[in-house]
Amino acid sequence: MDPFLLTGMFPFRCKPPLLGRGKLLKLIGLQGNRLNESFFFRAFHAFARRVRGTVTSVSTQDPVVAITFDDGPDPTFTPGLLEILGRHGARATFFMLGESARKYPGLVREVASAGHAIGNHSWGHPSFPAVSRKERRRQIRACDQALAPHGVRLFRPPFGHQNRETFIDAFLLGHQVVLWNVDSEDWLDHNGQLIAERVERETTPGSIILFHDALGVVLDVRHVSRERSLDAVDRVLDRLGGRFRFVTVPELLRHGRPRRIEWNFLGSPDLFEMLRNPDGTPWRYRAAGEEADR
Ligand SMILES: [Zn+2]
Repeated sequence: MDPFLLTGMFPFRCKPPLLGRGKLLKLIGLQGNRLNESFFFRAFHAFARRVRGTVTSVSTQDPVVAITFDDGPDPTFTPGLLEILGRHGARATFFMLGESARKYPGLVREVASAGHAIGNHSWGHPSFPAVSRKERRRQIRACDQALAPHGVRLFRPPFGHQNRETFIDAFLLGHQVVLWNVDSEDWLDHNGQLIAERVERETTPGSIILFHDALGVVLDVRHVSRERSLDAVDRVLDRLGGRFRFVTVPELLRHGRPRRIEWNFLGSPDLFEMLRNPDGTPWRYRAAGEEADR
């Protein structure tokens, strides 16, 4: 048994088991090949894989991919996006912010009734490794409540920032962490054609593709408009529509074994210096309890 598998089971840094392979097997009453075949081993292994890894894509030969949209819903851009997806017969997954979902419950309903999946992207978009465990749990729970009854138990950490502790928090709240393996980089300066070409180049069966139908936090006010994203999505669906079927993440997960990686990524302090609200003021995430000014 690989010792890393055991250490991976636990949220906190701990040493590999002190017992050697032989002793460990003896202790649990199983030896050699019998262990590999045992139900116990397979169940344990499946559990350990799930605890350890963040889903970034799915291993499948089926021509299916999942397109995902973060940070919405947004009253300016989400309806246009729904129109584009509907026109192409594509299903997508929206990782929404609880704060925006609470503000626009009609949009949440509309997204769900069009057959798209809705996942949790936190309440107010903090970098999870930078806030307390208590706040992380509040962020996930508050977003779940705002998405109910339409949300599914998928969580995407804001900024893609994650460490072992934040991953375990989401896991213990019953969420599977889903990131991506194709980043459209639609939150930067690229135009629709460039974004689409990039996505087209990198997409393979089982890919999970990252887009944004809103930007809660921005580097530059020029990035706020999602018109380029919508243009890119239209192009991607046009060009890849013949080769792939666009499905929700829950459906994609039924097409094969998820590819999981240990995703450790912390934001640099410089990033938080640069982030701005759309009105140009310095960015500050909204704590899960803050609803007073709505
Ligand atoms: Zn985000």
